Amino acid sequence: MEKNYHINTNCVQAGYSPKNGEPRVLPIVQSTTYKYESSVKMGKLFDLEADGYFYTRLQNPTNDAVAARITTLEGGVAGMLTSSGQAANFYATFNVASAGDHIVSSTAIYGGTFNLFSVTMKKLGIDFTFVRPDVSEEELNAAFRPNTKAVFAETLSNPSLDVLDIEKFAKAAHAHGVPLIVDNTFPTPINCRPFQFGADIVTHSTTKYMDGHATSVGGAIIDSGHFDWTQNDKFPGLTTPDESYHGVTYTERFGKGAYITKATVQLMRDLGSIPSPHNAFLLGIGLETLFLRVQRHCENAQKVAEFLEANDKVAWVNYPGLKSSKDYALAQKYMPHGTSGVVSFGVKGGREAAIRFMDHLELAAIVTHVADARTCVLHPASTTHRQLTDEQLEAAGVGPDLIRLSVGIEYIGDIIADLQQALDQA
Ligand code: PLP
Repeated sequence: MEKNYHINTNCVQAGYSPKNGEPRVLPIVQSTTYKYESSVKMGKLFDLEADGYFYTRLQNPTNDAVAARITTLEGGVAGMLTSSGQAANFYATFNVASAGDHIVSSTAIYGGTFNLFSVTMKKLGIDFTFVRPDVSEEELNAAFRPNTKAVFAETLSNPSLDVLDIEKFAKAAHAHGVPLIVDNTFPTPINCRPFQFGADIVTHSTTKYMDGHATSVGGAIIDSGHFDWTQNDKFPGLTTPDESYHGVTYTERFGKGAYITKATVQLMRDLGSIPSPHNAFLLGIGLETLFLRVQRHCENAQKVAEFLEANDKVAWVNYPGLKSSKDYALAQKYMPHGTSGVVSFGVKGGREAAIRFMDHLELAAIVTHVADARTCVLHPASTTHRQLTDEQLEAAGVGPDLIRLSVGIEYIGDIIADLQQALDQA
C-alpha cells in the first residue's frame, strides 16, 4: 500500500504505521531479548517455523521498521539493516559467494570496498575480477568464469563519480545467470532506483545521505525479488537444505524473501553486524527529510560545479550534472533529477594550491566524511592517500590536486562566497 505513495511521502511515513493508541513516533526497542510463554513457542522460532523476535543480534523491531522504509523507497520486497556500509557490502556478496567462487566488480568503487574485496574476501577464498565501468560489453562478458556468482558496482562511484550503465551490467550478469548487486549510496533512491534498470540487490552506506547528519554509521541491503535463484545450480546456499536450520531450503520456505532471510539468519546470526536500535532510530529520523535534503544537495552542487567551472583558478571540475562531464548522458538516463552533492575538482598550482585553498575555507570543514548536511572537503593526496607518490595517485584516479567537495544544504550564496574567498587566497 505504501508503494502507491510518492517517494517523498514514503520517506516520511513508510515502514511504521502505529495502531490505535500506539506511539506516533517509531519507538526505540532497546531490548536485547523478547519474552515467550513457553519453550515450545520459542523453539519454533529457532527452527524458522514461526515469525517473531527472540534476540536483537538477529532482528529488532526498530531496525526492521527502518529497513522496511528503505525497502519501500527502493521498490524492493525485503530488506535488512547492518551496522555499517562495509558490513552491507560484505553480507550482500558473501550471501551468494563462498570459498572457490568468483565475483566481477567495477573498479570504480569506494576504497574500503575495494580493500574488502581484494584483500579480506580474497583471504576467504573468493576471487574478484575488476573491470572499468566504461568497459565494452565484450570485455565485460569475458570477465565471467564458470564459478562467477555475482556482479558488483556502484551506481555513482565514490570518489570518482562515474555513473554506472546499470542496464549494461545487468544484461551481462543475467546472461551469465548471476545477480547484479549495486551500491546506491551516493544517488540514494531519490535520484536513482536501480531495480527499474535491472539491478537485483541494492546496498547502502546509510552513514551518508540517508542518515544525513553524520550521527550514525550504518548500512542496508535490499532485495528486488526479481532474481530467480533456482534458475541454475549456482546458489546451493539458497536452493538446497541448510543443516544449521534443520534442513530448511530458503527459496522453498521464504520465496522472494529467501536472500534476505538467509543473510539474516545465517550471516547476522554468525557475524553479528547489527546496528543498535538507537542508531536505526536516528537513521529513521534522517530518512524523513531525505527527499528534501537530496534535492537541495543537488541544486547546490550543480550551482557550485558551474561556479567552479567558470573560475580561472580552477583547473578542472568533475560533476556528472555538467554538460562537460563524460558521464552527462548516463546521468541524464539514470539520474535525471540529479546525481548527488559531491563534486570533485582541481585548482591550478597542484597539490600546494589545493592545500592552501583548503586551509582558507571557513564554512566548509575538512573531514573524511561525505554526504551530510554540512559542506565539507577532503584533499585525499594529503590525508587518506598520503602514503602514495604522485604517480601512484594518478594511477588510482586521485590526482595530487583533487579536492572532493561534499556540498551541503546551507544557503548557496554562503557556500559559494566561502569557495570564492579561499580560491582568491590559494
Ligand atoms: N559504499 C560507499 C559508496 C561508501 O562511500 C562507503 C563509505 O564511504 C561505504 C560503502 C562504506 O560505508 P561505511 O563507512 O558506512 O561502512
